Amino acid sequence: MKTPQPQFTRFHNLDAIKEWTTQDANDIYQISRWGEGYFTVNDKGDLCINPTRKENGPLINIMEVVEEMKDKKIPFPTVIRFHDILRAQVTNLNKTFRETVEEARFTGTYYGVYPIKVNQMREVVEEIVDAGAPYNYGLEAGSKPELIAALAMNTNQNSLTVVNGYKDRDLLRLALLGIQLGRKVIVVIEKYTELIDLMALAQETGVEPLIGLRAKIATKSSGKWASSGGDYAKFGLTITEILQAVKYLKSIDKTHCLKLFHFHIGSQIPDIKTIKDSISEGARIYAKLYKEGAKLEFFDVGGGVGVNYDGTRSNSPSSTNYTTKEYVADVVYILKQVCDLEDVPHPNIVSESGRAITAHHSCVVTNVFGALEIGNETYNVDKVVSENILVTNMRELQTELTEKNYQDVFNDATKLKEESVAAFKFGILSLDERAKLETMYWKICKGIVDHASKDEYAPDEILLLKNQMASQYLCNFSIFQSAPDTWAIGQILPIVPLHKLNEKPTELCTLVDITCDSDGKIDTFLSADGPTNTMPLHKLNNGDDYYIGLFMTGAYQDIMGDNHNCFGRLNEVHVFCDDDDPTDFYIEEVIYGNKASHVLASLQYNPETLAQTMKANVDLQVKRGKIRPREGVDLTDFYEACLKSYTYLKK
Ligand SMILES: *Cc1c(COP(=O)(O)O)cnc(C)c1O
Repeated sequence: MKTPQPQFTRFHNLDAIKEWTTQDANDIYQISRWGEGYFTVNDKGDLCINPTRKENGPLINIMEVVEEMKDKKIPFPTVIRFHDILRAQVTNLNKTFRETVEEARFTGTYYGVYPIKVNQMREVVEEIVDAGAPYNYGLEAGSKPELIAALAMNTNQNSLTVVNGYKDRDLLRLALLGIQLGRKVIVVIEKYTELIDLMALAQETGVEPLIGLRAKIATKSSGKWASSGGDYAKFGLTITEILQAVKYLKSIDKTHCLKLFHFHIGSQIPDIKTIKDSISEGARIYAKLYKEGAKLEFFDVGGGVGVNYDGTRSNSPSSTNYTTKEYVADVVYILKQVCDLEDVPHPNIVSESGRAITAHHSCVVTNVFGALEIGNETYNVDKVVSENILVTNMRELQTELTEKNYQDVFNDATKLKEESVAAFKFGILSLDERAKLETMYWKICKGIVDHASKDEYAPDEILLLKNQMASQYLCNFSIFQSAPDTWAIGQILPIVPLHKLNEKPTELCTLVDITCDSDGKIDTFLSADGPTNTMPLHKLNNGDDYYIGLFMTGAYQDIMGDNHNCFGRLNEVHVFCDDDDPTDFYIEEVIYGNKASHVLASLQYNPETLAQTMKANVDLQVKRGKIRPREGVDLTDFYEACLKSYTYLKK
């Protein structure tokens, strides 16, 4: 069980909006604040993607993608990847670095790498490598399997492959294999002994390595990944060890192998000040090392560029107070200034941004299939002769409630409810009486919350009751699979209905998923004024489809998702923009998610054995005359069909 989420007494004030327009939807869901220009609402009230971010550019209506998926019988929930956003993010980062380097008259070149741990999916990595080819954009790997993939994916001899993370001999050997293929594979030393192992292997194989040194710099970030920096960080060499490494390489006459200086102070860095500090500190270390005879060529600032999940553009943990342009300018100008002061050459710049490249490109689309509402029961609470006094008292409280006494009534009603549970346990209260009492209690609470909502000075206790009583919308997905960071670290993700944005939403809701886990819910949302525990959604019309999207799930969420309750991976569609198509898009690829048999097989069940066993059991009941033969065949077929079908709820 994770730590409880903070409770807020802040709410979206829907009553204040009289004439609802799509602009209000944009404001309430903060679409242009987190969307970086890629998302917009059309006149029909549908959420659209604007992949070129140009005013009259092509627009992809996400609901049209949903409709096409329905035609193709692709069930929800589904991940939709917008490959054009991925490409645009790669191009944008590279262009910004190039332009800034030129403008600053910086003499080094930018050689960015994409850290594949952020989203290792082959199609994602392929798209990034392809979009980055004109800029010699490379890859970063942090483990053996990642390097195995990166070596095959990054065949560009002019781009870098940076290898981070702890390494064994095989991993080091793989890096040297890359060198033998003419690639620029740089092994970043995280731990001193890796250097000794690497040089021994180099001697054995006769392959000269390219070496990077990761420093534990003193600058620490704030936010959720603060422990990646500072003296107690898990990775990197202390200043003492770095000097020792340089000395060692000198002693074996291999200083020329030393190419790169690296630091990485954590992910989702919220505050630009931390970035400035880290560049200043890192640049000084680089310059001093250069003067010590380590003729480093690359200055690798790591990753950590944050994204605006909550739209606030602040230094809150789910946000950042800087743009890519400001980040790049700080890296280039601070590095230049320090190098010029220290009189050392400008190095090439490497950055390892992952989150900022991939977060926006994918979303999870799920259908809301129902709501849990409290206080809407229609139970007959009419007075009967000789009813229990507790029930009578609750009925009286109900008639007494006014805007003035709601706090008192709340205290009395809550006490009465507690007493009624005790009375029930003693056998004094009947089931019917308990049901009546609770029905009235929740009606009273609804009234109390309504009064409190209109009261400027409403007590926090009552406002928190409003959060607790909010409708829970049931969504066909698992947060453990699709949005693990909302559960694990309280990350806020933007959530928006994909349609009806021209209609005013009237319900304040929380979201619950289909796992059998009370943590399987989302109850922290963005708002213009800061986090809230409820979000505005439309009233569900019985039977009508209602689709919502969880956005910015492209970084880390896919791979960190788990199989809680055996739900497994989602269906995916990969969408590309095509300005010549009437819809402005086409679905390039459909990747089906897990069937029940896949997930079960990964847990050592043999699907065929399961089916055989069940068939034998059905046959036995047929033999005993408990099930008719025809029905037996149907039941066996049904079980097998379920094994072969998608794990999530069928609509
Ligand atoms: C995780 C990681 C990155 C990527 O960080 P983002 O915050 O996603 O940009 C880059 N470099 C290293 C060494 C990492 O461990």
